[in-house]
Amino acid sequence: MGALSGASWREWPGAFLGVTLFAFFWWVLDAWRGRRVMNWLQSSAQEPVPHTWGLWGEVTDRVWRMRRDSDRKMTLSEQRLSDFLAAIQASPNGVLLLDQEGKIEWANQTVAQHLGIDVMRDQQQVLTNLLRGPEFLKYQSQADFSHDVVIAGRDDRPQRPVRIAVRLHPYGDGRKLMLTRDITALEQAEAMRRDFVANVSHEIRTPLTVIAGFVETMQSLTLEPQETRRYLDLMAGHSQRMKNLVEDLLILSRLEGSPLPGDDQSVGLKSMWDQTQHEARALSSVLFALPVQQLEFNFPAALDEVVLVGVASEIQSAWSNLLSNAVRYTPAGGLVQATARADGRGFFCLSVQDSGPGIAPEHLPRLTERFYRVDSSRSRDSGGTGLGLSIVKHVMQRHGGELRIESQLGMGSRFELAFPAARLRGLSEVAPAA
Ligand code: ADP
Repeated sequence: MGALSGASWREWPGAFLGVTLFAFFWWVLDAWRGRRVMNWLQSSAQEPVPHTWGLWGEVTDRVWRMRRDSDRKMTLSEQRLSDFLAAIQASPNGVLLLDQEGKIEWANQTVAQHLGIDVMRDQQQVLTNLLRGPEFLKYQSQADFSHDVVIAGRDDRPQRPVRIAVRLHPYGDGRKLMLTRDITALEQAEAMRRDFVANVSHEIRTPLTVIAGFVETMQSLTLEPQETRRYLDLMAGHSQRMKNLVEDLLILSRLEGSPLPGDDQSVGLKSMWDQTQHEARALSSVLFALPVQQLEFNFPAALDEVVLVGVASEIQSAWSNLLSNAVRYTPAGGLVQATARADGRGFFCLSVQDSGPGIAPEHLPRLTERFYRVDSSRSRDSGGTGLGLSIVKHVMQRHGGELRIESQLGMGSRFELAFPAARLRGLSEVAPAA
């Protein structure tokens, strides 16, 4: 035992040295591994993960996992943010973010189109330096954002107004979200609606006033039978005018509300031609005594069995409107010629040429507007409502065709319904007119 402890005692410095060397070596190795891990931690995320073991290995592994999870989350949030921004970019409404000082932080392209703000260049610009119109400045300074303010858009021109509704929505700590909407079409539709109501009221008020006046006269005075007859005739004329107006209004509203005509309906050309010819002749004989109007109807025999695909009542009403206009606006002794023909350009046409007064060029583009008349009294006296050509135009649009108008002052007028030839059934070929 004493010999053994004597030997251990003697070996102790060597063992101590060995342990110290081992500890030093371990410390150097550990410091080296630690440094590698620290270098990796300070490096960019793309650097490869250092291979190490033990405690450093565990730390590296955990940090790597955390980095990977946070990278994934970051990519996901970036993706979400870019999807979100892309959705806002695609919005038909303008979106703009303002910071606490009213400077632009972000805006989508729609704002650029609406208000002419440059999304990149104008970032960090004070919005009121860019939108200097008095309406917007007043809106912004009043700080009552419970309603929109309407201002002129970037492309606003006197001939083509562009109206933008702008609204601010405060949020967060003094920031604001600004939304913009193009309401030009809405305002135009509203103006058209107001005009339409005013026109209809005006059209109805005149005959109604006349009828009410006659009724009052007949109630208060004892009239001779002849006079009574005359008054009743006049009242009948005015009530017929109101009836025509209401009928045309109903036709228009039906045209606007009904689906496009399909292929399952058609009208026989010959029967429609004969019926409308009969009506036109009757109208002409009622309106004009001697000298009578000369009416010519040219319908090729090749079309006898042909049908036109479309809504029969609409096509017939369009054609009879053109014939009745030709008869009504051509003076006594004049000539009205109606023709059915192919125009050689893929259209089948029903056209009517008259020797009437003709129409000045400035009126031509507006003829199909509702209630637009060149000569109001002539139109009303002959039973016109001012809606005929707008009905015709609507019918033609619904049938994929067009209404063609050619006229010169003093040279008569030519009105033509042009249907795509593909709408004809039962004919191998419609020869172009000579
Ligand atoms: P109206 O019921 O007044 O005839 P329309 O819409 O049919 O309404 O026609 C609009 C206007 O176009 C008419 O008021 C008239 O001034 C003009 N017009 C239409 N057809 C002719 C024609 N054949 N000749 C001359 N003017 C015409």
